[in-house]
Amino acid sequence: MKIRENVPLATLTTMRLGGPARFVIEIEEPDDIVEAFDFVHDKNLPFFILGGGANTLGHDEGFPGVVIINKMRGVRVDGDKVNAMGGEEWDKVVEKACEANLTGIEALSKIPGTAGAAPVQNIGAYGQDISQVLESVEVYDTLIDEFKTLKAEDLKFSYRKSILNSEEAGRYFVVALTLKLKEGQMERPFYNSLERYIEANNETDFSPKAIRRMVSAIRADKLPDPKEHASSGSFFKNVYLNDDEAKEAEAKGLPVYHGKDGNKINSGWLIEHAGLLGKTLHGMRVNEKAALVLINDSAKSYADLAAARQEIIDAVYEKYGYKLEQEPVEIVAA
Ligand SMILES: Cc1cc2nc3c(=O)[nH]c(=O)nc-3n(C[C@H](O)[C@H](O)[C@H](O)COP(=O)(O)OP(=O)(O)OC[C@H]3O[C@@H](n4cnc5c(N)ncnc54)[C@H](O)[C@@H]3O)c2cc1C
Repeated sequence: MKIRENVPLATLTTMRLGGPARFVIEIEEPDDIVEAFDFVHDKNLPFFILGGGANTLGHDEGFPGVVIINKMRGVRVDGDKVNAMGGEEWDKVVEKACEANLTGIEALSKIPGTAGAAPVQNIGAYGQDISQVLESVEVYDTLIDEFKTLKAEDLKFSYRKSILNSEEAGRYFVVALTLKLKEGQMERPFYNSLERYIEANNETDFSPKAIRRMVSAIRADKLPDPKEHASSGSFFKNVYLNDDEAKEAEAKGLPVYHGKDGNKINSGWLIEHAGLLGKTLHGMRVNEKAALVLINDSAKSYADLAAARQEIIDAVYEKYGYKLEQEPVEIVAA
């Protein structure tokens, strides 16, 4: 178990903002988990569980407790099951599954971050999300200091939500997860942008490996590479509407998508049509190719990000009456 002191959160998160964490502990094997939480209890400090920092924001004042990072790696394919350690890079898990010709997560290619964080906000893209294939997670329950297994239904998944980021946020440290995939391939119709890519490129092979290649190409064209540009990916959640609200929105001429997961308006569309596409606010740029993504070009602090966020929320609210909700999680003491 590695313990470091006064580590800037800016170096642990892909938005690259935030002051020092008092302690950072890297978990390299299951025994480290027990030791790390003994350390937390002994010192009576708050803790925050972190993966790759691709969906988390550090505050300027830092974090006064212990940031515990899952670095346990490994992924194993066994028949149609995939077992991954929580600190493994998510995209490695997808790569291995596709190599084994298993379908179920190929559209989740190139989502930055770790496997352990994937169920937390029920990662999703291009028509797939992890709730559709997750069988169970091995967790360390920090409330009673015990390892246990939670089944997918225990996690109460919905859009960008599970108990891990809502009613039980911060309670469970995800040690490993098991996915149940299938041999075969995704069925058409695919997500709109994937269908457009297929048509434009005359694609005919829809095997997991081929879909992975296409999704990777679409993402590379549209989304910033976290190695080159500081961002947390989609900064706002899409807007979900009940049937009456959806009818009202359509009557106003707004584009409402009726998907399996409900009626939604793409928040990127709202931001774009509020006139913010490509604009830079307080050093934060609204990505020209996907307005939902904010890129930290030159923000000096979390305060700059907060000011930009407010201006975007206000502009969309004034024009359309929807209050955008932030997707990334704040690193704060519970
Ligand atoms: C360029 C870019 C594109 C993105 N595209 C997508 C996308 O298409 N779809 C999508 O859904 N997301 C997307 N994201 C968001 C992000 O990649 C996912 O949320 C990812 O799961 C974050 O993984 P992480 O390891 O970096 O999590 P972190 O940011 O480190 O943590 C996120 C949350 O998970 C918790 N957590 C992390 N690890 C564990 C663990 N082991 N046990 C318990 N809790 C844990 C944290 O406490 C925090 O609440 C994108 C981000 C970027 C930067």
